Amino acid sequence: MSISSAFRKELSKSEIGKTINFCYQCGTCSGICPALRYTKIFNPRQIIENSLLGFKDKIIEGDMIWQCTTCHSCLEVCPQAVLVSEIMFQLKNLASKKGNLPEGFKLEGQNVATLGLNIPNSPAIARRRTQLKLSENITTPNVEDFKKICEATGFFDLVGKPEKKEG
Ligand code: SF4
Ligand code: SF4
Repeated sequence: MSISSAFRKELSKSEIGKTINFCYQCGTCSGICPALRYTKIFNPRQIIENSLLGFKDKIIEGDMIWQCTTCHSCLEVCPQAVLVSEIMFQLKNLASKKGNLPEGFKLEGQNVATLGLNIPNSPAIARRRTQLKLSENITTPNVEDFKKICEATGFFDLVGKPEKKEG
């Protein structure tokens, strides 16, 4: 397993990534993490530790980081104000640029570009919205704007060009 001494510096280039250096490995983030309860391969404290130690390939090429649900609970409880969930985003961005982007995420990205929603509307979602006393109809933004942004930013290079779908 290779070690990249530059990985910590690479992450620390951003204001968000800099906060990784304040981690003292207390494990509070892991204690509250809902993803950790359901998968043995995911542990935010360990991911921060591995990042600090320079295990870049293990993180960027593996499945671990994709288990994070982006609930931000870790960020709220970290006593050192490490922006854990935001650092997960950074790691996911690095992984996806290296071609490590799970199919489900690609599909969600394509849905945003074609429907303006990451998960298509369905009778089940409409029923749930009614139970929650929300409007059954979900307003979707102008997807043509999304497409332009996706083209301009190279987003389709990551997720693949979507097939035409009916909204
Ligand atoms: S809660 Fe904060 S300081 Fe504690 S292990 Fe997690 S990131 Fe590090
Ligand atoms: S944002 Fe990710 S790492 Fe943080 S608590 Fe939620 S699932 Fe766990």
